[in-house]
Amino acid sequence: MRVNLIDFNIAVGKHKPRTFQGMPNQSSCPFCDVKNLTGILATEGNIILLKNKYNVMEPSDQLVLIETDQCRSDIPEYSREHMRRLVRFGLSHWLTMVNSGDYQSVVFFKNFGPLSGGTLRHPHMQIIGFPKINPALMYEPEEFQGVPVITQNGVEVNISTQPRVGFTEINLNLTAAAYSSKVAFAEEKVQSPAPLPLPGAMDTLADYIQGAVAFLKEIHQRENFSYNLFFYIYQGRVHVRLMPRYPTSPLFIGYSIHLNPTNREQTAKQLREKLALI
Ligand SMILES: [Zn+2]
Repeated sequence: MRVNLIDFNIAVGKHKPRTFQGMPNQSSCPFCDVKNLTGILATEGNIILLKNKYNVMEPSDQLVLIETDQCRSDIPEYSREHMRRLVRFGLSHWLTMVNSGDYQSVVFFKNFGPLSGGTLRHPHMQIIGFPKINPALMYEPEEFQGVPVITQNGVEVNISTQPRVGFTEINLNLTAAAYSSKVAFAEEKVQSPAPLPLPGAMDTLADYIQGAVAFLKEIHQRENFSYNLFFYIYQGRVHVRLMPRYPTSPLFIGYSIHLNPTNREQTAKQLREKLALI
């Protein structure tokens, strides 16, 4: 079968702490208890990269990136400076792992909210290195195409016209203009080399991610608002997808039918108005 399969260690997963109401293993927030964190790999201000205590996928190296010391906050509340620092820190550690040659694939993503697949409220991201996961099976390039929103500093934003699951998925794709003219890129879905983008492009990416998350939060006025951010490497360049999360449609789960929202043009216009103010 043309899919990636990996073992999930149930014995390890059973003990994972959870801080969303109603989930089992309710605990106080382990990411707030900074002095008892172990396996810290790097820090910058209150941003911490550490080994995941619950390495449930085998074989893999799972890291956690704690975004802030503010447990109840999230991306829309960060200062612009903090958001930029976070994106530069995350991209640089992720791409270092990608280019290390130790893994076939390295993924970088964020879960936020109870419907995102995450278990802890405290804002965090994950970086996972897989020695045996084929990047060619992780996405389709067409998913990065969409209704144009805005392009600046090599960051191209669009509303996906071929959503990966369904509804409003926002792409933030880096073009060649986001990189030094001297760098070399991997081809197609091969992961490395994947150079670090120029500082100005990373800052614009951070600003637009922050604006796009705030936009989604505004249009989904609900308490359990949830989303994922997924970082990909396509043609050696960083591509980011922001996906709102809902209980997933049975048409998708059962039959792989993707639901394409009919208000794409209108959403693109509203998002353009918001991002143009940044
Ligand atoms: Zn916390």
